[in-house]
Amino acid sequence: MLRGIVIFFVVFYSLFTVAFAEIVNIGIYHKSKITSFIFHPEEGKYSVFTEHGKLLEIDKTDLLEIRYINNQITIKSFDKNYGSFKKVRFIGTSWSNSFKIKLTNSKRIKIYEDNLFINLHNYYNYFQLINNIEIDNYIAGVVESEVGRSPPPEYFKLQAIICRTYALKNIKRHQAEGFSLCDKVHCQAYNRKPKSELIKTAALETKDVVIVDSDIDLITATFYSNCGGETARSEEVWKQKLYYLRAVKDTFCLHENNAVWTKKISKEKWMRYLINHGFPKGSLKHECSTEYFQNCREQFYENQNVQIPFTKIRTDWHLKSAQFNVTPEGSFVILKGKGFGHGVGLCQEGAMRMAKTGYSYIQILHFYYKDVHMINLESLAFFKADY
Ligand SMILES: [Zn+2]
Ligand SMILES: [Zn+2]
Repeated sequence: MLRGIVIFFVVFYSLFTVAFAEIVNIGIYHKSKITSFIFHPEEGKYSVFTEHGKLLEIDKTDLLEIRYINNQITIKSFDKNYGSFKKVRFIGTSWSNSFKIKLTNSKRIKIYEDNLFINLHNYYNYFQLINNIEIDNYIAGVVESEVGRSPPPEYFKLQAIICRTYALKNIKRHQAEGFSLCDKVHCQAYNRKPKSELIKTAALETKDVVIVDSDIDLITATFYSNCGGETARSEEVWKQKLYYLRAVKDTFCLHENNAVWTKKISKEKWMRYLINHGFPKGSLKHECSTEYFQNCREQFYENQNVQIPFTKIRTDWHLKSAQFNVTPEGSFVILKGKGFGHGVGLCQEGAMRMAKTGYSYIQILHFYYKDVHMINLESLAFFKADY
């Protein structure tokens, strides 16, 4: 009950929370045009508030149907119509609260923890759904959505710290839309309440721990699937040079699922692409002229004075990574690549292998992020009084 009161207080008095909030507002079903769904408490009790105050209390024996009708939110139970409103808040009042959402035209049920806010868009004919949630509950949901349930527990701790750091650094990303972060990979994937107890424990055991740089600022804690044997420097991918995102030789990921890839492209299309990007026609007339070897991570695919950034080629051809060799084969070129993802920061498959072989999450973290520090949020607030 105490927890419910605290959440209630936070909901109404600090909707737009300060940077190091304990509660975050996550835009769920982001970009989905939702106009009707069923709300069903899974655990605990919920109070339903509207712009007029408290409307009713419900528990897991209740189902409410929520519909968008004439720019209003209508609430209906099996036998009663509660009316139409401009905004609705489902506030959990028990120690632990979670609820189910089932969209009317879908069989899929998703479960979320803590509270749900429903707002109306000013210009669109659908709801905005916001999960108002304790940050560690959210972090556990993100970890499971991002990496699944199979990695070892030590890895979950590492990923929880990275996801917490990432979330707090980007907490204002969707401020103009009225929430903190969305539930898509644009921010961090967040699909639902996690099923794994190990992940929940990892989020709680690393509670309040974040990663900072030498100026005690939260780091840009980037990660991706597999570096292919060498991580990329931040400026190779995003122009911004960050001292802790350096090239690291990584042998841990070399035999993992995403270590290598191949792609076959018509030679004619490949040559047309190179010519369109400034390669002189004459430079491509020999049989082996499309051959290219990238021994270690290189920044540019180059010929004479023409350079195409590998990151651009990756985007243009939807390649798994920007590290690849090219070999001609008849009327095709074969791209043989290493790794999966942008390559900057933590290599997930390498880090998982390290965790399986007994490295601690602290050792793994310092392997991929150079000269960073782990710090408690309270200490961070002390150093950064302006937060
Ligand atoms: Zn986002
Ligand atoms: Zn790697």
